[in-house]
Amino acid sequence: MLISLDVGASKIICAFVDDNLKLKKIKIATQTKKGKHFVLQNIFDVIKKNWNKDVKKICIGFAGRIDIKKGVIIEALNFTKNFKNIYLKKILEKEFKVPVFLSNDAQCFTLGESIFGAGKKYNVILGFTLGTGIGAGIIINKKSYYGAHYLISEISHHVIIEKNGLKCNCGKRGCFEAAASGIALEKYYKILTGKEKTSIEINMEALQNKKIAQKAILKVAKNLGIGLAYFINIFDPNIVILGGGLSEIKMLYKPAIIEMKKHLANKSLFKIPIVKSKLGEDAIILGATKLVE
Ligand SMILES: [Zn+2]
Repeated sequence: MLISLDVGASKIICAFVDDNLKLKKIKIATQTKKGKHFVLQNIFDVIKKNWNKDVKKICIGFAGRIDIKKGVIIEALNFTKNFKNIYLKKILEKEFKVPVFLSNDAQCFTLGESIFGAGKKYNVILGFTLGTGIGAGIIINKKSYYGAHYLISEISHHVIIEKNGLKCNCGKRGCFEAAASGIALEKYYKILTGKEKTSIEINMEALQNKKIAQKAILKVAKNLGIGLAYFINIFDPNIVILGGGLSEIKMLYKPAIIEMKKHLANKSLFKIPIVKSKLGEDAIILGATKLVE
């Protein structure tokens, strides 16, 4: 029995996981704007609420760049600026007296899908969490590949989709995250209408056949397609799995795949399935349970 957490920039899900992988979940808002200490206290409190004397370990998928070996949050671009160099593993082990395993949330997402979800039958899996930002994970033969500097999770900032595009939290303009995330959709919509709406509201409008909302989604879809092509060309995966709030927008897939094919480097890559997560909001939680040191 263990506690597993999905800590994102907008919400924290904390699950008590029994030996049959049954989840008892608590969801709270992260409230990143209230600062580092507030968020850490939130994590403490939610673990305590779900605590049980049989808990043997705590596993966490966190939306940031993570030093897996040391259990340190190196930086978290969608949190506050000072949210860096946090020895979360050490802090929590001191408090709760059980081993703590910490990894990036998108890496946990991809691991979860590779073991329990849409990636079960595949060896090389590329996963993206399309939420407030875009996280990435790579699984090779059921093992996470993190990169020498733990930067695989951050590759959405390493490819520029739109020169002089929207400004990103990483400081650059037009990177994959700035061009194809939930933030991107909301900003494009605002540019077109002058109004502020959430991604969910924009999707609702698009489903009601409102042209401007459809136009904003199409823009994000094309950017998504270009980005996916870049990463597929480099990593040559068997499958690409998409999760996060934006992956629920069905209208995204067709135009994204059409655009992607224009940029793929080899015809062998055309048949790679681009699919939605099977585990939904449990993917990160379940993936984190499989973290090893
Ligand atoms: Zn960026």
